[in-house]
Amino acid sequence: MRILLIEDEKRLSHFIKKGLTENGFAVDQAFDGEEGLYLAQYESYDVIIMDVMLPKMNGIEMCQKLRTLKKETPILILTAKSEVEDKIKGLDSGADDYLTKPFEFAELKARINALLRRSYRQVSNNLAIDNFEVNTSKHTVFRNKKPIKLTPKEFAILELLLRQKHEVVTRTQIIEHVWDYNFESLSNVVDVFMGTLRKKIDKGEKVKLIHTLHGVGYMITDKTP
Ligand code: CA
Repeated sequence: MRILLIEDEKRLSHFIKKGLTENGFAVDQAFDGEEGLYLAQYESYDVIIMDVMLPKMNGIEMCQKLRTLKKETPILILTAKSEVEDKIKGLDSGADDYLTKPFEFAELKARINALLRRSYRQVSNNLAIDNFEVNTSKHTVFRNKKPIKLTPKEFAILELLLRQKHEVVTRTQIIEHVWDYNFESLSNVVDVFMGTLRKKIDKGEKVKLIHTLHGVGYMITDKTP
């Protein structure tokens, strides 16, 4: 899942990015409101995290602009303790949730997961299909009760496919939601990852879950696609 982080405090921004990247998220950083608004408008994100007090354009104004432009990406605003007014203004202007600084990283992660569940219309962090079980909060993967070890990128691709199970996910969507802005797409990188995932998840199993739709993309399903 790909996140846009708009925060002008460089140390905090790098701390959040590091934590999220370790959890398999792709993170783009913007350090002022204008840069943030530009990226939010033209790139695809699953969640936008934004500070309220920002150079060039504040978070409240940015929320309003994005909602006016019909951008529906979930927005989590970060506010300082003293800015109670900003929380209300932020929610009123289209933000979906807020977090008060300083915060625990675990809480930020839980709130991001909650926003993702809502936008993909899921009620739980457990995504299951056939005898395959994935927990998006604990990052655990089981097939037939046996644990499977995945790298953060492999997990991120799997999570994207599972959140849209029984639907086709194109290579472009995978690249857009799993890698950040600096990624230079190599022609077959997605296929290489999918090959590894297929080996780890489907090898030796009667029901194959990962399907290739030639020229279109990939689908995770236990039905015939
Ligand atoms: Ca700030």
